[in-house]
Amino acid sequence: MTNRSAVFYDAPMETPSIERFEIAVNTPAGRLTTTLDVPTGFVPITSIVPVTRRLGEEMSKLEELRSRETGHSISCRMGCAACCRMLVPLSPPEAFALRDYIVQLPEDRQTALRQKIADSKATLASHDLLHRLQEVADATSPIPDEELDPINRAYYALRHPCPFLENEICSIYEARPAACRELLVTSPAALCDNFVENPVTPLPVSVRIGTVLGLLWGSVTDSSPRLIPLPLALGWAEQHHDEARRTWSASNLIDLLLDKMWRFLSHEFQARGQSPQT
Ligand code: SF4
Repeated sequence: MTNRSAVFYDAPMETPSIERFEIAVNTPAGRLTTTLDVPTGFVPITSIVPVTRRLGEEMSKLEELRSRETGHSISCRMGCAACCRMLVPLSPPEAFALRDYIVQLPEDRQTALRQKIADSKATLASHDLLHRLQEVADATSPIPDEELDPINRAYYALRHPCPFLENEICSIYEARPAACRELLVTSPAALCDNFVENPVTPLPVSVRIGTVLGLLWGSVTDSSPRLIPLPLALGWAEQHHDEARRTWSASNLIDLLLDKMWRFLSHEFQARGQSPQT
């Protein structure tokens, strides 16, 4: 189903060497061939977050192409942010990457974002939701869907905008989590006013990148996979900052990542009644 090979190439003296992985993978929407550039040697988990998200986006493009071939195009547009009122889950690697992104922003911007997150938490607390989200972030074993579902519904019922949403535009667009990148719809945008009541048609997702990164983190730290609600992600990452400093062989991380991804793809092929081509 997949091929992977690695090529080293020289980088300028002042930059770390890069290992280029050439990937070929069959997805339910078609075959994806691409390259991943990852720093060589031992790297923190955040090093592979951008390339993993890009893989997810390339898989989304295949889904979009397939969808267009059947007469359905994506209706999501800039400034249309109905989905930014849903609860977004982050894997620990993405929470660390979000923190890294925020702390490199100018001081006044960081302060503004931290204030927005604090305001968001205060609103959630006033609706008796903050402690439920905190329980999700702190859980040491996977939470079953039947327990998560009422939390997601209660959150969505508030139509509480994401703390990073400004004038209906994502203010951290290049650093937004994988879950935000994956939610695209082919039904009319007006239906997104109510995801629960209206027949919204999401674009199929071959691989949920946040879940895969969460599984990878669980593997390398020998911990239970967890997903952290977005309003708590910065605080969670700061609380676990020591873990973010750990490093692993980049090559091993990529091997593990692809293994998790392939497992996810196998389930997805099965769920769609397709068989992976060889
Ligand atoms: S991070 Fe950006 S895209 Fe994701 S929910 Fe928040 S505002 Fe929307």
